Amino acid sequence: MEIESIVANSALIRAREGKSKGRSWKWREMLRFPHISQCAELAMSIERDYYSLCVKQPIGKKLFQLFCRSRPNLQTFMSLQDALVDKERKDFGIMSLNLFCLVICVFSKYINSSVSWNRDLHKHLCGEPFRQYQDSMFFDRFLQWKMVERQPITKQCFRQYRLLGKGGFGEVWACQVRATGMMYACKKLEKTHVKKRRGEAMALNEKQILERLDSRFVVNLVYAYETKHALCMVLTMMSGGDLRFHIYNIGKPGLDRKRVRFYAAEVCCGLIHLHQMSILYRDLKPENILLDDNGHIRISDLGLAVKLSEGSLVRGRVGTLGYMAPEVIGLEHYGMSADWWGLGCLIYEMTAGQPPFRARGEHPKPPEMERRIQKEQEEYGDKFSQNVKNLCSLLLTKDPKERLGCQRSGGREVQYHPFFRKINFRMLEAGLVEAPFKPDPRLVYCSDVQDIEEFSIVKGVTLDHTDSNFYSKFNTGKVPISWQNEIIETGCFGELNIFGPVGSRSPDLDW
Ligand code: ADP
Ligand code: MG
Ligand code: MG
Repeated sequence: MEIESIVANSALIRAREGKSKGRSWKWREMLRFPHISQCAELAMSIERDYYSLCVKQPIGKKLFQLFCRSRPNLQTFMSLQDALVDKERKDFGIMSLNLFCLVICVFSKYINSSVSWNRDLHKHLCGEPFRQYQDSMFFDRFLQWKMVERQPITKQCFRQYRLLGKGGFGEVWACQVRATGMMYACKKLEKTHVKKRRGEAMALNEKQILERLDSRFVVNLVYAYETKHALCMVLTMMSGGDLRFHIYNIGKPGLDRKRVRFYAAEVCCGLIHLHQMSILYRDLKPENILLDDNGHIRISDLGLAVKLSEGSLVRGRVGTLGYMAPEVIGLEHYGMSADWWGLGCLIYEMTAGQPPFRARGEHPKPPEMERRIQKEQEEYGDKFSQNVKNLCSLLLTKDPKERLGCQRSGGREVQYHPFFRKINFRMLEAGLVEAPFKPDPRLVYCSDVQDIEEFSIVKGVTLDHTDSNFYSKFNTGKVPISWQNEIIETGCFGELNIFGPVGSRSPDLDW
C-alpha cells in the first residue's frame, strides 16, 4: 500500500473512532437556538399534525415525552409507553408482569377494552395533552430546534476525509459533520457530468425517493445540498464495504452459509420496505449492498429505482445486464418481479462466488448474456445446500408469474422459505439480531485511494440559469427525521436541551 493511502486511511479511522471528539470547538455556536421571538413565523406556518410532531420526528417525540413526564396526570401514559417499548425490545411473546399490571390500571381508568394499546395510547395523547403541549415551553423548544434545522447547508458544514468510491456522475467521499462529529458518505454528482449525460431526472429521482424512505435496510439521506460544481447527497456511512468486496476480495470467492442467509434476509426486508412504498429498486447486485460498522447491510444506489402508481407496471431495459430479469431484457412490462429475480442472482453469487450466468473471468458479449438469462438453466455446484438451491431456483424462475415473491403475499412468501427457518424476521426488522460478521474497525474495506480511477473532466458544457431550477429542487438541505436522529445519537440533543429555571416560559438559554 502506498503512503498516500495509509495516511488517508488512518485519518479516516481516527475520525470515526470518537463521535463527540469529532465535533468542532465551535459546535455550540453552530447549533445555537434562535430567540423564541424569532420562531413566530414558523409557529404560524407549521402543520399542527400530532403524528408528525410527536411520533414521527425524533426530536418532537422526545420533547413531547418530556412534556408528558412533567405533568402528573400524564406520567402513567409515559410508563405505559416505556413498558411497551421495553416489551418490544426484550421479547415478542410474553408480557411482563409489570406491564400487565400497568395495562390493567391504565385501561380500567381511561379506556374500555384492549384493542390496540399503542393506538389507544395515541388516541388519548393527541387530544387534550397535545393541545396543552403546544402551549408549553417544550413546544417552544421544538420550534427552536426546527429553526436550527432550517439553516442552510454548505460545504463548510463538513470535514472531508478519503475517497470511498466512484459512481457514474462523481465521487463518493467520507465526511464528518463539524457540528456533531457524525460520519457520513457524501455522494457528489458533478454538475457538468449530469448535464452532459442528461442525468437531471435520474439525480432528482434518487434524491426524492431516498428522502421519503425511512428503513434500517436502505441507506438514509441526511442532507442534500449544492456547491459551485456539484450536487451532494450525504448518506449513512457504510464503513464495512460492499458485498462485492466481501465476496471476491477476502479469501476464497463466496461467503459462508450463515452470512449468505443473514444478508439475504436483510435484503429481503429492504425490498419489502421498498415495495410497500411502491418502489421498484431494479439495481440489485453485490456492489450496491453495503455493510455498516456492525455488519448489517443496507441497500444503496437508488438511481434506477422507480415509484409505480397503484398496480401499474413499467417497461425499460435498465439495470446491469448480468442481473437483469428475463422480462426486463425482453422489453415486457414488469413490476416488483424484477427485484425478486435480483435477489436470486445475489444469493447465487454469494454462495457460488460467481454470478449465475457467467463463469469466473468470462466476459460474454451482451447478446450471449441475454440468451443465457432468457433460455439457459443455471447450474448448481456442491456449494449449494438443498435449501439454498431450492430458494435460488424459485427466485430465478424465468416466468415472473411463477416466480417466488411475485404472488399475492409478495416478499412474505420469500421469508417463509425453509432456507430462512432460522431467521426471526420480527427481531431482524427491529434491529435486534446480531450480525454473523462484524467488520474490523481498524480496517478500511475499500480499494486503495490511488486504485480508484480519477474522475474525468467534462469539457464544452456550460451551466446557465436554465439549470438552476433543477438545482433548487435538489438543494433542500436537511432531511428532518435523519437530521434529528443525528442530533440525538451524537448526544448534542442531551447536552443542549437544557431549560431555564423551572416554570420559566423561555427555553432560550444559558450556556
Ligand atoms: P452510482 O449510482 O454512480 O453507481 P453509488 O451510489 O453506487 O454510485 O456509489 C459509488 C460507490 O461509492 C459505491 O460502489 C461504494 O463503493 C461507494 N459508496 C456509495 N455510497 C456509500 C456509502 N453510503 N458508504 C460508503 N461507501 C459508499
Ligand atoms: Mg452503484
Ligand atoms: Mg446509481
